[in-house]
Amino acid sequence: MLDSNLQATLDGVLARNPGEPEFHQAVHEVFDSLSLVQERHPEYNDMGILTRLCEPERQIIFRVPWVDDRGEVQVNRGFRVEFNSALGPYKGGLRFRSNVNLGIVKFLGFEQIFKNSLTGLPIGGGKGGSDFDPAGKSDGEVMRFCQSFMSELYRHIGEYTDVPAGDIGVGAREIGYLFGQYKRLTNKYETVLTGKGLDWGGSLVRTEATGYGATIFAQEMLSARGTSLEGRRVSVSGSGNVAIYAIEKVHQLGGIAITASDSTGYVVDEDGIDLELLKQIKEVERGRISTYAERRGGRSRFVAGGSVWDVPVDVALPCATQNELHEKHAKTLVENGVIAVSEGANMPSTPTAVEIFQEAGIAYGPGKAANAGGVATSALEMQQNASRDTWSFEYTEGRLTDIMKGIHQNTLETAEEFGRPGNYVVGANVAGFRKVADAMIAFGVI
Ligand code: NDP
Repeated sequence: MLDSNLQATLDGVLARNPGEPEFHQAVHEVFDSLSLVQERHPEYNDMGILTRLCEPERQIIFRVPWVDDRGEVQVNRGFRVEFNSALGPYKGGLRFRSNVNLGIVKFLGFEQIFKNSLTGLPIGGGKGGSDFDPAGKSDGEVMRFCQSFMSELYRHIGEYTDVPAGDIGVGAREIGYLFGQYKRLTNKYETVLTGKGLDWGGSLVRTEATGYGATIFAQEMLSARGTSLEGRRVSVSGSGNVAIYAIEKVHQLGGIAITASDSTGYVVDEDGIDLELLKQIKEVERGRISTYAERRGGRSRFVAGGSVWDVPVDVALPCATQNELHEKHAKTLVENGVIAVSEGANMPSTPTAVEIFQEAGIAYGPGKAANAGGVATSALEMQQNASRDTWSFEYTEGRLTDIMKGIHQNTLETAEEFGRPGNYVVGANVAGFRKVADAMIAFGVI
């Protein structure tokens, strides 16, 4: 139950942003946690912090025209939501997928504010993208689209203003085309994007960072309960950037990741996912997950459609997309004895699924804490670019590991401080919020 002030603020935010269910969901979850803070800090209410926080500082929507391989003109819509710059330049990925709309970009940008704050690094929150889907397009089409997208975006971003990165549908290829066009338009070789190639300003470990980080977060939650990933069966959803490197880290930490999925279905491999084969299919050939089982044979199988969460495991790592894990999936996982859920994706569990995990006493790490390793390593890429330096894999991974351990500790202690021990949702929302709110108060009403 929210108090009347908070409820009125929430009602105002929902009314001002109609038809954006994912944004409403993200805001609601944060407000639920913040009622605990409002009691202790009335100044946040007096200064209108929440009302200001829920209104992006700037929202840019633009036309992206491009020509396909048949010579026909196509038009997509581009978005960049510069949500909050209290802690640093806007930072957050670009998503290229057919279902992208303003509400989805706003939910992602809103989450990003808290996530970036939790990293302890000087980065604000933003997000962007387009309803363009690179799947099934030729390299030439993707290049022409990216060039057109950047031909508008370049005037809004910059090293000290807004530094986008990748997300769903935006990997090394897309970042290359986007950076090339930015450089050509501005004549500046600056840190305007992260996730760059290693030969041209990228950071080691950035590719691995989100998946590694989500697994490290799972390990930390287990460690706080006196156990570990060693020998644990783990299910992972998705087979993109985050999923692949979550699986890699699970294996490094002695667990056995037995699933991967895409939008056509999932594979189960009782002997553990063969990472080299998975990388070959998804990173090199850009193929479908069904071919994994065909080529792997043995004790692997492909299940068309269906839910990866039906597979009995000790630990679940949702690494595909928002709202992919529903009430019935959470119930099945709990019945099958899951002990920890760490989110590599953004908001993959629905609110009811989260309640089920929490009521069952499962260690549940929300995406804004558990997947912060990606943006944290992007900030490390910015640091390396600023000092014209490149760090070793070991050093960078060490920094990532320390950051993830720090986020875990901070969220755990904050939850305790606010009377919700073990509740990482409250811990992440409150710890992330306080830093941003205090900076906003310092700046006055702007
Ligand atoms: P990718 O595009 O590399 O991979 C996405 C994967 O999820 C693909 O396997 C895709 O399958 C699957 N997927 C997407 N939508 C659906 C759906 N509706 N149903 C089933 N499967 C689906 O993206 P990333 O790995 O980069 O991102 C995954 C998640 O992690 C997102 O929520 C993203 O916001 C989040 N994240 C990513 C970060 C990063 O550094 N990349 C940082 C922090 C969070 P298919 O190929 O069939 O589409």
